Amino acid sequence: MIPRKVRIIEVGPRDGLQNEKKLVPTLSKIEFIKDLHAAGLSEIELTSFVRADRIPQLNDSAEVFSAVSKIDGLDLNKCPVLVPNMRGFENAISAGVKRVALFTATSEKFNKNNINCTIDESLKKLSAVAKECSKQNISIRGYISTVFGCPYEGKKTSGDLERIIKTLLDLGVDEISLGDTIGVATPRDIEKILDNVLQYTPTKKIAMHFHDTYSRALANVYASLKYGIAAYDTSAGGMGGCPYAKGASGNLATEDLISLLTELDIEHGVNLDLIVKASAKVLDGLGSNSLSKVHQVVANG
Ligand code: MG
Repeated sequence: MIPRKVRIIEVGPRDGLQNEKKLVPTLSKIEFIKDLHAAGLSEIELTSFVRADRIPQLNDSAEVFSAVSKIDGLDLNKCPVLVPNMRGFENAISAGVKRVALFTATSEKFNKNNINCTIDESLKKLSAVAKECSKQNISIRGYISTVFGCPYEGKKTSGDLERIIKTLLDLGVDEISLGDTIGVATPRDIEKILDNVLQYTPTKKIAMHFHDTYSRALANVYASLKYGIAAYDTSAGGMGGCPYAKGASGNLATEDLISLLTELDIEHGVNLDLIVKASAKVLDGLGSNSLSKVHQVVANG
């Protein structure tokens, strides 16, 4: 049941950097993506086409995208760019984006506070973008946030996960990433959700997106592996402290996942030393240290 091979979707350049307050220079972002690709990652979330005043860190998305689209061997069909709405989608398309990531959440309050609309309104916006995608042959990845808990609603959220997933699948979304936005999930929660979700969703369409707030991200990966889930979102160096979660911890670090997979003899195709070097460069620029234990072991070893 445990997959022999796992896909890693590197979200550092978007989800990681988005939550870092200090601005990273455009050239460093481009170099970061080059380094991640050279380390063996083929699926990298490159940036987000959002309003510059909303997320100043990503106000250079067109420039970053244009530069990295020239990286030799980087397949843009595998590299999503996050778009929040039709405006972002149009900007992404003019830049030459081939794969987009769209998002919603299982919590009414989270959607309201984050994107100022209800779950239904967010699905409506998302569906308008998805219809354009299918016309223009653009593939779609979907994010569902707060699946395991919400900063405002707690562990039991108000939305209907099944309805959201089915809507996304109907819209042609080819992969759905289930997000533990504040990192509160336990392996038991993973079992509960996957027992349910996999009844109406093909296993190969599900990815997991964990945060390491309570040091349970890897335990949750292992619980998901047992269900045959073979796609995980990670961020190099563990960058991207979630603004809603307590503590400083962010996304599951790419380094931590690679190390576990290697020890479990699960194929992943990524070079750990090169990931550590890639994230160390960016972290140096930010003046911060990686919270990933594996990163620390390799960097100081
Ligand atoms: Mg995240």
